[in-house]
Amino acid sequence: MRILVSNDDGYFSPGIALLAERLGALGEVTVVAPERDRSGASNSLTLDRPLTVRRAANGFRYVNGTPTDCVHIALTGLVDPAPDLVVSGINFGANMGDDTIYSGTVAAAMEGFLFGIPSIAFSLASKTGRNFETAGAVAVDIVKRATRHPLERPMLLNVNVPDVPLAALGGIEVTRLGRRHKAEPVVQMETPRGETAYWIGAAGDAQDAGPGTDFHSVAAGRVSVTPLQIDLSFHPQMAPLREWLAK
Ligand code: MN
Repeated sequence: MRILVSNDDGYFSPGIALLAERLGALGEVTVVAPERDRSGASNSLTLDRPLTVRRAANGFRYVNGTPTDCVHIALTGLVDPAPDLVVSGINFGANMGDDTIYSGTVAAAMEGFLFGIPSIAFSLASKTGRNFETAGAVAVDIVKRATRHPLERPMLLNVNVPDVPLAALGGIEVTRLGRRHKAEPVVQMETPRGETAYWIGAAGDAQDAGPGTDFHSVAAGRVSVTPLQIDLSFHPQMAPLREWLAK
């Protein structure tokens, strides 16, 4: 089995090193990841300049672009033959609810899925990053399942792992995305040259976080696994919209 590994924290991050090492026991791993932290890059492609791919001492390849660039380049010429699986992470920090819209971790997996390859994003739901090992063990378990018993249709899974020792995990749960409150206010500051600068604030706290959501699962100490799709069409609004346009 060939596994393409990427992330959005950068090729030097502890999460991707651990992921590549653990998955190396299951197949042939190729790492193509951003040269710096591109968290929050979402699904952006770099189209206004050419990109370079360099090889680090440990064999990881790094790109001066986004997570989506990395997987796109890998799947359109850099990595041959194509991988059987694209795995992204392990992100330092949760990617739950609305985070998935902004996440480069999820975007890297989504790019694989767009190419018809089963893809999985792993995130450690944590601000301190104590138990990456737990997420590494969860990744091995889920990737093994994905290869032994593939789902009928290619899947795009968003996995969030609580930051607890493996023995303290409360199980695994299939969830839907919750929702957050609106983001914290932007932080304003004055630059040394007297201009006002704006620093995007933190994500909001969980709002729709009841049973069945990713937030609820992780807060209860369980691994959250959300199957994602890409179709953004709001199907229930199509009929009312037709009527509205006919008026
Ligand atoms: Mn990140």
